[in-house]
Amino acid sequence: MSDCIFCKIARGEIPSKKVYEDEHVFAFHDINPIAPVHFLMIPKAHVPSLYECEAGHEPALGRMLALAGRLAREQGATDGFRTIINTGRVGRQEVYHVHLHIIGGPDVLPGMLKR
Ligand code: AMP
Ligand code: ZN
Repeated sequence: MSDCIFCKIARGEIPSKKVYEDEHVFAFHDINPIAPVHFLMIPKAHVPSLYECEAGHEPALGRMLALAGRLAREQGATDGFRTIINTGRVGRQEVYHVHLHIIGGPDVLPGMLKR
């Protein structure tokens, strides 16, 4: 999609702090990090959200999870991290191109959701 901000980042049309790239995925630092390690991994192909994912997206989605630990460790999250994919209104998704947040750092993260 030509006007999608994350597609533009993956194509190098908008600058980003790149973490990793291969034929399926692109990873870059979140512009507004919530922890010392906070980067995003996206499929290079435009997919708005997990609702639109299907079998054809499995190579990219699988690659994202398979790389998460290695990239997290390389970025300094050596004692654990959290992975989040926000989806839709209820999930408070802000950018409609699937992205996996990888969040970590030296300190233990807050509890996942308030009860
Ligand atoms: P979400 O609420 O899951 O859709 O999160 C979108 C994330 O994208 C937020 O954490 C933003 O800080 C991040 N973000 C938005 N624009 C950019 C950008 N140009 N470069 C890097 N991260 C971005
Ligand atoms: Zn896109």
